Amino acid sequence: MTGKRKDLLNMLCDLSDLSALVTGSENIENFLQRTAVLVSGHLGTPVCSIYLYDETTDELVLKATVGLNPEAVDRVRMGSGQGLVGTVMATRRSVCEGRVSKNPRFRYFPETDELPYESFLAVPIQKGAVKIGVLVVQHTESDYFDTTDITALKATGAQLASVLENARLLMDLQRLCSIPQRAVCNLGFIKGQRTVGGFAHGRATVWRKSHVRLVSDSPDAEGGGMVDFRRAIGKTAEQLDTLQRRCAERLPESASLIFAAHFMMLKDPKFIDRMASKIEAGVPAIRAVRDVAAKYIDLFADSPHPYIREKVSDIEDLAGRLISNLAPSSPDGDGDSSGRVIIARALYPSELLKLAADSVAGIVLVNGGVTSHVAIIARSLKIPVVVAPCTELLHLPADTPVLVDGEVGNVYVDPAPDIVARFDRARQQVITRQTPVPVGVARTADGTSIDLLANINLLGELPLAREMGAAGIGLYRTEFPFLIRPSFPSETEQYLVYRRVVAAMDDKPVVFRTLDIGGEKALAYSDTAREANPELGLRAIRFTLAYRDIFEQQVRAILRAAAGSPSPGIMFPLISSVDDFLRARQVVRDCLDQLAAEGMDHHAHPAIGMMVELPAVVETMVEFTAVADFFAIGTNDFVQYMLGVDRSNKQVADYYRPEHPSVLRALQRVVRIADEHEKPISVCGEMGHDAAMIPFLLGIGIRRLSIDPQFMPAVHRRIAGLAIDRCRDHVRKLVASGSIDGVRKILAGS
Ligand code: PEP
Ligand code: MG
Repeated sequence: MTGKRKDLLNMLCDLSDLSALVTGSENIENFLQRTAVLVSGHLGTPVCSIYLYDETTDELVLKATVGLNPEAVDRVRMGSGQGLVGTVMATRRSVCEGRVSKNPRFRYFPETDELPYESFLAVPIQKGAVKIGVLVVQHTESDYFDTTDITALKATGAQLASVLENARLLMDLQRLCSIPQRAVCNLGFIKGQRTVGGFAHGRATVWRKSHVRLVSDSPDAEGGGMVDFRRAIGKTAEQLDTLQRRCAERLPESASLIFAAHFMMLKDPKFIDRMASKIEAGVPAIRAVRDVAAKYIDLFADSPHPYIREKVSDIEDLAGRLISNLAPSSPDGDGDSSGRVIIARALYPSELLKLAADSVAGIVLVNGGVTSHVAIIARSLKIPVVVAPCTELLHLPADTPVLVDGEVGNVYVDPAPDIVARFDRARQQVITRQTPVPVGVARTADGTSIDLLANINLLGELPLAREMGAAGIGLYRTEFPFLIRPSFPSETEQYLVYRRVVAAMDDKPVVFRTLDIGGEKALAYSDTAREANPELGLRAIRFTLAYRDIFEQQVRAILRAAAGSPSPGIMFPLISSVDDFLRARQVVRDCLDQLAAEGMDHHAHPAIGMMVELPAVVETMVEFTAVADFFAIGTNDFVQYMLGVDRSNKQVADYYRPEHPSVLRALQRVVRIADEHEKPISVCGEMGHDAAMIPFLLGIGIRRLSIDPQFMPAVHRRIAGLAIDRCRDHVRKLVASGSIDGVRKILAGS
């Protein structure tokens, strides 16, 4: 046995003894430090450092070191992917460099007082897919490490994985418990993920569900008598009234429904009188509200019916408002979020709507994934949203100034005046950039006209679509009125909403997509079963075909609303077979027969089309052209299903590649077949406004894009700079490439 191998064995044995200590009384920091000493001793390296991965910030933090300045511990942080150490974590591959100064990825941190250590060896520490950290050894001699050292360090990393995983959890716990309430103001800057663009600068409100207020034991909890209670009811009613009016202005389709349950409860003698009798019996008002609300919440939360369980949040909200109004000293004041930056773990669409009615300035979602409908609603309502990987934000004291830069995904806590000034300038530029300029028909440099239509989610977006000169609506996502209401809208309610869409667009075409719920767009009030794989489940057309009454009500409402419109379209989402399409089309035909028999005003000949969102459509596209009147490619879902990547799962975001060669080739084929059969085809997914992808889309023959109206000026400009022949050449090059990397290089060079 060679000396090095023997020492490797000794090191692993020593390490195993040391690991046993950590489960006992050993302090974790000591354990890490002793591990670093042990490894550096056995490998004969002057430097050994241990970095642990901090999930909340997506950073590696130096936790123990031999050889570097000990004061750098906890201060040296680098993003996963940054520098050599970050690269080891991101790629989960070890790096061995004989002359590290030559590697451009090497990053020097002055706080480490690092000497010129030329040899560098780092291995990832991971447990399954879980990132734990990186173990690094360094030596002044060049080319010091050999394959035995690499094996030794890898074995060490593997042995450390389990014990460090627990250590890291314990440290997280300690850190969270020790966060002083105001210390988090030192957070300063947080790099988040851009979710909805725009800027917000306001005071922070950490969004806790009202029931947190219900169970909190603030000193005010004892206060209040009958006079205060009656006053609080009056104030709450006034606030709800204002909110409702604001809501109706910004979201006409929600009408008064969002707060309807609140009003009903506020007038419900059982609910209010129970509180009043407790107060008369000497119970302090806040406690009376809390006790009665808690009883109702327990009762409703146990209901087998989701729409009743959904009412829990209304009671929490109402009782929370009453309590706030009884305790005016509470930091949440009167619950008015106007101009504030809301910091929340996650939000439901209904909560987002209440906040929108309250005119919030911006939203920071801490660590939470953001479902696409929350993002879409926020975008429609122009509320900047950043997803920030930093749970400390949830401990931010109320009223701390926060600046949200949704354009790049940055969050600044208590920003310095120069940052605010910079932000004001950037905001001004964006306002200038976004000033609506009617774009009219888009034309390429060589004179080919491209129709720009609008994607509409909420009625509030219609004025912008008109201002931008949209040639029509290429996608009206009808699920949003369903998502923002507390229950299924009736045929008449739907008719009234759809009628406004048709009326707003004068004689221009409007394409109604039938209900696309299920999957992540689940309705809180729907009784449908939870699914293990919702994106592969009873979604979109599958849902409506399964619930024919809901489908028929919607189709009837669309057909009635389309009366008088010159060219309305109905399109089905997530069609996977010609058979599905025919069944869905039959429902439309049945509804047409019913309306004719009932003598109801309606449009008798709508175009009936479908979305291309599933790879299954590609192989049967010829057959589809025989039955569908038109096609719209939903690239968001097409990419998701073609590549098997959940489009809202951050963990696999790197796999969601619209530029994947299979996606490009399949799109080319679909468009070619539609053209050969003279069937109109458009793109209505996000790819339609992606500057990098527009030349490809025009090159494969797309002449109609349906996009968010806010993107119209930029898309118009992009198209004006393109010539169709060159786009076709570009496509030839792109589809000849079989790798994502290859495609990217071509895209970068175009
Ligand atoms: C799409 O999938 O591209 C699309 C437009 O539909 P949605 O984003 O509403 O699923
Ligand atoms: Mg879709």
